[in-house]
Amino acid sequence: MPASFPERIDAFRIARLPDIRFGDGSIALLPTLIADYGERALVVTGRRSFVESPRWSELITALEAQGTTWLHVTIEGEPSPQRVDAIVGEHRENDIDVVVAIGGGSVLDAAKAVAGLLRPGNSVMDHLEGVGRGLAYSGPAVPLIAVPTTAGTGSEATKNAVLSMQGPEGFKKSFRDERLVAAVALVDPELLAGCPKAQIAANGMDAFTQLLESYVSLNASPATDALAWSGMQAFCRGFWPAWEMDHPEAGRGYSQIAYASLMSGITLAQAGLGSVHGLASPLGAFFPIPHGTVCGTLLAEATAINVAALREREPGGAALAKYAEVGRLVSGERKRNDRDACDALVATLRDWTQRLDIPKLGAYGMNQDDFDRVVAGARGGSMKTNPLVLTDAELVTLLARRL
Ligand SMILES: [Zn+2]
Repeated sequence: MPASFPERIDAFRIARLPDIRFGDGSIALLPTLIADYGERALVVTGRRSFVESPRWSELITALEAQGTTWLHVTIEGEPSPQRVDAIVGEHRENDIDVVVAIGGGSVLDAAKAVAGLLRPGNSVMDHLEGVGRGLAYSGPAVPLIAVPTTAGTGSEATKNAVLSMQGPEGFKKSFRDERLVAAVALVDPELLAGCPKAQIAANGMDAFTQLLESYVSLNASPATDALAWSGMQAFCRGFWPAWEMDHPEAGRGYSQIAYASLMSGITLAQAGLGSVHGLASPLGAFFPIPHGTVCGTLLAEATAINVAALREREPGGAALAKYAEVGRLVSGERKRNDRDACDALVATLRDWTQRLDIPKLGAYGMNQDDFDRVVAGARGGSMKTNPLVLTDAELVTLLARRL
């Protein structure tokens, strides 16, 4: 464990978490878990990979054998409010007892919103932060079983569903409520086998960004630090073997990155995030950039800018000491002083960005004229828990370095 334990433990909260079932082969528990909640299940999946695997037919056979009625909807790409409303409209009269989401972050987020609205039956735009009608959500939500098939967003452990509309008037905003937290998070690392390399890379960078940002967040507590640290340890062990796929230890790597992703969901939900996720919201709304790619492309430079600003404005603060600990962890060099360890962190993250060949923002149509509106759209949410307040000029520098 890292050395930076606080003198006094300040007030903190651990809000509601799902019942977590983690382990290779745990997908076999799914039919029984579904039966615990009732007889009618709405199963939400992506368009292809899971439904084309033998696990899909095994699941359907098991559901039919136990007398569960199942309905199926698919989510393609990042979910929009219109898609969520359409699914709710189609199924609100169907007496759904449980929603089952099997897929990546988009599928989990869409299903989370659907589960929240099946009973009330209203539009998700009533509740979407910042762009919606600002009405309070009063539930009830239908129980949700979340089964991630990628290791990235940690959505199985969070209370928010991120929905987006793309284009000049675009947005990427959350429907957020404690009642949306999944009843069960079923995390089976074996489901990651066969995940394309580029997806492992982007999702892995998302998970690591979430862990690092929540570790240095202004809202971090010793409890979330312990979880974030164990997630970063797991990531360092497992990410590269999993990414290499034909690596002999890829299988073990899957368990490590599935764990890292799960921890990142818990810590982001409890501690908040930082500048990368602050910028990810407008970037994802204005440009067709996958969320993991935004994280991967910005993380090293965002960390460099935070470290430089902290050295200037809060040289004795806890955040720099924490960055130094992570620097020792990711570089594997334990004896460095804090300054060298922070430099090693930035150098290692830059090396990852290069090795993974993460595209720059310009590849998605962004140019310098977009800086102002991206910075203006980045000030809410995650940016508030960045370890210090960055100036507009610092955010522009960050974007410019990855244009
Ligand atoms: Zn993220």
